[in-house]
Amino acid sequence: MSDLQLDPRGFIIGCPSCAQRNRVAFSTREARCGRCKSALPAPSEPIEVPDAGAFDALVRDARVPVVVDFWAPWCGPCRMVAPEMARVAASNAGRFIVVKVNTDALPELGERFRIRSIPTMTVHAGGKEVARTTGARPAAEIESFVNGAVGVA
Ligand SMILES: [Zn+2]
Repeated sequence: MSDLQLDPRGFIIGCPSCAQRNRVAFSTREARCGRCKSALPAPSEPIEVPDAGAFDALVRDARVPVVVDFWAPWCGPCRMVAPEMARVAASNAGRFIVVKVNTDALPELGERFRIRSIPTMTVHAGGKEVARTTGARPAAEIESFVNGAVGVA
């Protein structure tokens, strides 16, 4: 279980130096540990969205584009995409935030975004959905899809 989480008030990031759990607002540019003042790493792995309120706050306030992996536990292709999304999150820390929405646990988000098949991946920038694609992809293709969606060559 990762110590990287989010809720409607921000990220919860474990300090790599002292293990203190820090709450970091989604809008923070360079976060530091409240206890030891070390720089906290940008999120570098997919974060499970716990509820719609956290999702809405994140896409509204995040300083970088948010990539959303809509998935469900019974979906085979979703299991193939999960490690690819983890690679994308690791190699783009500080550039994108990658989150996962379990459409079984959060049906209201699946309905709101009209998710008809999974895996579906959406990209949100400036509080709006700017792109989406459906189906399993390798990390390199996901990355170029996101870069294209947010206008990075
Ligand atoms: Zn610390």
